Amino acid sequence: VKYVYFFGAGVTEGTAEMKNLLGGKGANLAEMTAIGLPVPAGFTLTTELCTEFYKNDRCYPEGLEAEVEANLTQLEKAMDKKFGDSANPLLLSVRSGGRVSMPGMMDTVLNLGLNDDTVQGLIEQSGDARFAYDSYRRFIQMYSNVVMGMSGSVLEHLLEHMKEVRDVELDTDLTADDLKQLVELFKNKIKETLGRAFPTDPKEQLWGAINAVFGSWMNPRAITYRKLNSIPAEWGTAVNVQAMVFGNMGNSCATGVAFTRNPSTGDNHFFGEFLLNAQGEDVVAGIRTPQPINKAGGDGSLPSLEEVMPDCYQQLMDIQQTLEKHYRDMQDIEFTIEKNKLYMLQTRGGKRTAKAAIKIAVDMVQEGLIDEKEAVLRVAPGQLDQLLHPSLDPKAVKDVIATGLPASPGAAGGEIVFSAEDAEEAKKLGLKVILVRIETSPEDIHGMHAAEGILTARGGMTSHAAVVARGMGKCCVAGCGGIKVDYAAQQFVTNSGEVFKKGDIVTLDGSTGEVMKGSVPTVQPELTGDFGLLMSWVDKFRRLKVRTNADTPLDAQVARQFGAEGIGLCRTEHMFFEHDRIMAVREMILSEDVEGRKGALAKILPMQKGDFLGLFREMKGLPVTIRLLDPPLHEFLPHTDKDIDELAAVMQVQPQLLKQKAEFLHEFNPMLGHRGCRLGMTFPEIYDMQVQAIMEAACELVKNEGYEIVPEIMIPLVGHVNELKVLRANAVRVVEEVINRYGIQVEYLIGTMIELPRAALTADEIAGEAEFFSFGTNDLTQTTFGLSRDDAGKFLPFYVNREVLAEDPFVVLDQEGVGQLVKIGCEKGRQARPGIKLGICGEHGGEPNSVIFCHDNGLDYVSCSPYRVPIARLAAAHAAL
Ligand code: ADP
Ligand code: MG
Ligand code: MG
Repeated sequence: VKYVYFFGAGVTEGTAEMKNLLGGKGANLAEMTAIGLPVPAGFTLTTELCTEFYKNDRCYPEGLEAEVEANLTQLEKAMDKKFGDSANPLLLSVRSGGRVSMPGMMDTVLNLGLNDDTVQGLIEQSGDARFAYDSYRRFIQMYSNVVMGMSGSVLEHLLEHMKEVRDVELDTDLTADDLKQLVELFKNKIKETLGRAFPTDPKEQLWGAINAVFGSWMNPRAITYRKLNSIPAEWGTAVNVQAMVFGNMGNSCATGVAFTRNPSTGDNHFFGEFLLNAQGEDVVAGIRTPQPINKAGGDGSLPSLEEVMPDCYQQLMDIQQTLEKHYRDMQDIEFTIEKNKLYMLQTRGGKRTAKAAIKIAVDMVQEGLIDEKEAVLRVAPGQLDQLLHPSLDPKAVKDVIATGLPASPGAAGGEIVFSAEDAEEAKKLGLKVILVRIETSPEDIHGMHAAEGILTARGGMTSHAAVVARGMGKCCVAGCGGIKVDYAAQQFVTNSGEVFKKGDIVTLDGSTGEVMKGSVPTVQPELTGDFGLLMSWVDKFRRLKVRTNADTPLDAQVARQFGAEGIGLCRTEHMFFEHDRIMAVREMILSEDVEGRKGALAKILPMQKGDFLGLFREMKGLPVTIRLLDPPLHEFLPHTDKDIDELAAVMQVQPQLLKQKAEFLHEFNPMLGHRGCRLGMTFPEIYDMQVQAIMEAACELVKNEGYEIVPEIMIPLVGHVNELKVLRANAVRVVEEVINRYGIQVEYLIGTMIELPRAALTADEIAGEAEFFSFGTNDLTQTTFGLSRDDAGKFLPFYVNREVLAEDPFVVLDQEGVGQLVKIGCEKGRQARPGIKLGICGEHGGEPNSVIFCHDNGLDYVSCSPYRVPIARLAAAHAAL
């Protein structure tokens, strides 16, 4: 087996297609080399080797050492330098790179190969001792941290101390002697702290770094990121060993990162940042304020690369165009300039906001780079979420206290917290928080997830906070220099001296960079323009219909705007909770006899009918599925003595009597208790009233307003066909009575939910009585796992954290278990009644993977909450393409 692939002048063994084997970075370094771009030569150790390494208890296969040696020799030839040589040393970067990029998750070691001998060679070669010792001290810092496991802050502290003693601001102001001294201080500190010396043998350094990259695949941060992004542990990472080029050899050198288009807005403008005389991650780490790539990208306060190094800039412009044409996608690139010579160090598909993703996809279709199908596939369904959320009301009065960079769009307000832990705690309590940090690091990811928005005092548009927030679709204001964050005091102070403490409320606008005092009202998103165009393509490619779960005309209206093609689930119980109705509902529940119940139901009937009139009108003839009453009756009961007294007065009975009745209705296990069709069996007059209301509403509209309406009446929680037989007969009786009374023709369907395992297993029998099935996957998950949805919060997160379950089955459909019941239900249902209408409702209807599952199993539609309708439409198109 070949484990090492070379890239460099003359020979390049990899291609962009080999991402699975070489990782994204390695594959693209090879590709860039192959198309003639200036890339420092190197070689890639494959992801297969990583897998092999973990399979064999962290040992390498035989022959690997020789393979690496051979590639190293080839690299020495290509660079005309020798690794470990004291006269003409080759220095290396050792970089990780998985199949998909995992920002900041794994670590890079630069300047590898330096020791007290080779540094002399570097001085001779470059004629620049300051540069050589700067590289040496960087190497020791990175290596001791990444490979030897020493906390980065210890050496950082020594560096800061040196700057203080020398009374300078910037790293670049330290002299060669200062840096040389630092190297000694660093080495001593490492020995003192770790009890072992910093390795001087370059080969030992190289293998140490390779081990560390493979080792970092299993570090907790990487594991967290993989979990959050559903990346399997089996994929492994590759290791890229590459000749160093130096951006820190003075002011004719630089390093930078750029995007071929604006990753925040999608505008077709080359966009990026760089630092003169710097190396590696200085740009993203926010150590100095980066300068803009071009004049258009900055505010004029700092000179751009376009002005400082016009030739390199022009070359970079050409390269970025070449790359975009070649990859036919927006690229995120990293480059270094060594003595006015430009080198490319990385290219990859750039992360972008949903807004940018849509604009870029639509623009690229118009530019002829991609077709409509490809454009649809370029936007991840889950990503749409961020577009569908509110932004600041432009008319709102806002008190702007500071302005930072518009790092990730959207608006959010909440209480200030200063740590990831506090953000998580607050989220658990149901609070909305804004996470405020000087800058973020991968350790903060869980807190960023919990927060509504992120505010950092330092860092640019490509800082950790900005990149991660954009990926998560959270709003983020970064590099907000106008606030001074004090973790110890749990507060920040603005330029004007105003103090904001933990718990105070602020609002962020990630589209403008503004930070505002208090909470500022927001408005709904704009769903026309590029979004509308892309969604029109989406609708061309999908087969699966998308309906919505809506209980009110307002829900229905929102969902229609999002493109819902019907209502898949109207939960009638929500109508019962409304303030002026609950009394009548309670009266009905607590009545002594049928007559009492009928009296109360008669009060509810006109209100129910009004609900359905509203829904039918809003849906203008699109299908509407209405579920008859489902929850256990006790949910409607009065809780307080005051409520009971009030009700007793209305019903003219003793409060004591009501209390007894309420106690009688108490259930030990209400989710498996007296609910769903069991209510219809024992209190048929409830369902009769509902069916009457549905049909009267339908008939009135058909008769008076000329709508086509085919109401779909849905009976919940059926476990045995006999239940449905009885209830269907009841419903048909009421339906026919109403239709006859109106004297018109109205079609209707009667169906059921499949939400109990027994129903799925006997779906053929049930289909004999049902014209449609709707898989209620919330209850089906609950009953299949035997897992109470209302109590699972106490232990389910533990399961997910321990990877006992890969995902919360209430969020992502458990395809193996619950999904198998869905499949059985579909098959048996179709067997017994070919052409039976099949859909799913429940949270899974808007979850992209679950939508794809529904497509694959031939369901007719999914139904989800209004805000997820576009996500489901896009996922359905992805499934079909
Ligand atoms: P990440 O995956 O975090 O982007 P990289 O492997 O790209 O990590 O390395 C981070 C940075 O290190 C690069 O952006 C670049 O500035 C620097 N770097 C990597 N390889 C080299 C090299 N061969 N020469 C000079 N700098 C390098
Ligand atoms: Mg990195
Ligand atoms: Mg990189």
